[in-house]
Amino acid sequence: MTFTTTRNFGNWIDGSWRQASGREIERRNPSNGTLVSRFRDSTEADVDMAVLSAKTAFRTKWAGATGAERSAVLARAADIIWRRADELAFFEMAESGKPAKQARVEIERSSMLWTYAATQARSITGDSFGQLGDCYFAATVRAPLGVAAIITPWNFPFLIISQKLPFALAAGCAAVVKPSELTSATTLLLGEILQEAGLPDGVLNVVAGSGATCGDLLLHHPDIDMISFTGSTKVGKHAMRVGADGMKKVSLELGGKNAHIVMADADLDDALDAALHGAFLNAGQSCNQGSRLLLQSSIAAEFIRKFVDCAARVTVGDTQADGMLLGPIINKDQYDKIVDYIAVGKAEGATLALGGTHREENGGYFIDPTVFTGVRPHMRIAREEIFGPVVSILEFETLEDAIALANESVYGLSAGIWTGNVSHAMKAVQSLNAGTVWVNTYLDGPAELPFGGVGESGIGREVGKLGVEEFTDIKTVQIRSGGYSRRWVGQAIEAPNA
Ligand code: NDP
Repeated sequence: MTFTTTRNFGNWIDGSWRQASGREIERRNPSNGTLVSRFRDSTEADVDMAVLSAKTAFRTKWAGATGAERSAVLARAADIIWRRADELAFFEMAESGKPAKQARVEIERSSMLWTYAATQARSITGDSFGQLGDCYFAATVRAPLGVAAIITPWNFPFLIISQKLPFALAAGCAAVVKPSELTSATTLLLGEILQEAGLPDGVLNVVAGSGATCGDLLLHHPDIDMISFTGSTKVGKHAMRVGADGMKKVSLELGGKNAHIVMADADLDDALDAALHGAFLNAGQSCNQGSRLLLQSSIAAEFIRKFVDCAARVTVGDTQADGMLLGPIINKDQYDKIVDYIAVGKAEGATLALGGTHREENGGYFIDPTVFTGVRPHMRIAREEIFGPVVSILEFETLEDAIALANESVYGLSAGIWTGNVSHAMKAVQSLNAGTVWVNTYLDGPAELPFGGVGESGIGREVGKLGVEEFTDIKTVQIRSGGYSRRWVGQAIEAPNA
């Protein structure tokens, strides 16, 4: 990759780069401290300008565009993302510290979401009601909600914005996006990409800056019609409260403490690989992390031996070097939080079977794959989201025990089960309290399938057909033809909507 120089970004507003007026923010590669990008925090004036631009463009340019026009823009955007994949993958890797190969795969997967959303832009439909009586017809029409505020986290920045923005645009919404200040570059680059793809200026605006200032201003802005937020449950609840005050639609993708169940009758080699991938991908900084590994006791000892053996071979370090599977933790705060949880696990009496080791090295914060066994359901490491390369292993006797353990969580984002028995699989699918249940696979996510959580993992769905519908409102249309024969004055009073 050749994009090795620092890039200065402005905000992307109304089709051009505008310097924001707040303090300067520098983003350094969390692997090695190299300066990657610079931009400024957005102030109230900057956020106002972005929202006004979106509001105007929504009314004058995008809400009235045909599905075919929206689809063409999204399809061209997918091609441009593919063409600029090296550049996008570079910034994704450099700002988050993730391995280059992983960043490249995420950009390619994101491009497919844009391709899929392009198909959906032409397929937005409502219902029709032709049996209401003579000369009386009704229909529901899906209309775009208006201006969406989209706020995203740092762990999979381009993938997560691609789970939201193309679906919002397909629906006909305009957007103001606030990426995490830790990983803003690739979202800002979408301004250029969508302009080249033919998106009218002002339909997409990106404001950079911190969550507490610029993000909060955006949540509170009276001209925002919908909030689409991915991030922590704590900030998600705040977004929901602010949304309630402004009567805005709110869609939330939040944290998880996902149970990954392995039954004795499963293909244990496949389950082992998926359990490792599910636990340690992105240094465990993933909402779908299989952070609770539930093993049937008859196979637990052998499975743990192999799991620990493989996890010990996971390479950790500066991802500029070839062959690193795990990069750094995103920043010092997150690093300190994970290190504290490792201490909590030990103090609670769980057995540290691997890792627990960590280091600050050359400007980066690294934590080795860490495995706790003998974890009991009441322990904090079994209940709270750690968001790092730490996995808690619990054992169970029967499928019923496994389901009860899995459901003992305030979260409900995803769950997985490995079993060779179709009855076990069906029982788990019906009983696991999660937005996604994977059977004999983990972390798959085709663009056709909706994604979201229950409980403290969120509200609403994104991706798939539902992902577009989330950005629409339903308008009910009733048409009488052939005359209106009632005369309210002088006749018996009819109940409305009877
Ligand atoms: P945060 O909630 O801290 O931040 C998410 C976004 O919200 C960032 O852009 C952040 O800005 C912004 N933000 C922070 N405070 C405010 C505020 N007061 N008002 C408006 N915006 C604000 O989460 P993290 O970035 O730390 O991400 C990790 C969390 O995200 C984990 O809990 C994880 O489970 C969850 N997540 C959920 C996913 C899902 O689909 N369910 C997917 C990925 C992550 P800034 O960073 O600039 O401060």
